[in-house]
Formats: sequence, C-alpha cells, structure tokens
Amino acid sequence: MQVQAQCVLCRKEDEIVEHLFFQCEYVAAIWNASLRWVKIHRVAMTWSSEINWSVANIRGQSAGAHVFRMMLVACVYYIWHGRNNRILRNTIVQPDSIERIVIQKVILLASSKSKLASVMPTLNCYPQM
Ligand SMILES: [Zn+2]
Repeated sequence: MQVQAQCVLCRKEDEIVEHLFFQCEYVAAIWNASLRWVKIHRVAMTWSSEINWSVANIRGQSAGAHVFRMMLVACVYYIWHGRNNRILRNTIVQPDSIERIVIQKVILLASSKSKLASVMPTLNCYPQM
C-alpha cells in the first residue's frame, strides 16, 4: 500500500501531525465547533499548542474538565476514523457529521457518569459549523 504525503481530508497540505491536528481546514471546522460546544471561545491551534493549552487550562476532576477530555479524545478518534475511511473506502464524511458523532458519543458517555450531570444540561444543542 502506498502512503500519500498529501492530507486526504483537504488535499492542500502534507499530512503531518501538526497539520492533521488541528490546522487542516476540515479538521479545524470540527475542532472549532467542538470548542464552541463546550463554551471555549478560541480557534484551533497546532497539536502541541492544543496539548499545552489543555494541560494548563483543563485540569482536575471538574465536570467541565472531564467533558473536555472526552471531547478531545472523541475528536481525535473520529477524525482519524474519517481519514481512514477516506483512504480505505474512498468515502467522504462531512465535518458536521463527524461533529455530531463526537457530540453524541460524549453525551452518551457523560450520561453514565452522575458527576457530569451538572454540566450536561448546558451542552444540549449542536454547535453551528
Ligand atoms: Zn488537511
């Protein structure tokens, strides 16, 4: 199997970690909407900057911190899944569809954790993309 250097999601840049998470315009649309969903009002940064920001700002055991971490993991997983579907099945999933899947998974996971009940009512709608 030949591996393409070009990002299969936007077909504009080389696929490196810093591009794919979260500078790719396809991925940035998902991540920016996810940030808005959890009431964080800033735009997507590079992978290393996102990790540094997360370590500095999303600490502890608060409900909001748990939801943010679940959202970050779900975004990375479903973006990677979407990328692989594009490569292996030649299927294109639009960013808003991935965003809805991410939110649905986070809501499903959070609904089983009573300590997150305080924050979930504030996250009861899909963000506009
Ligand atoms: Zn891209």
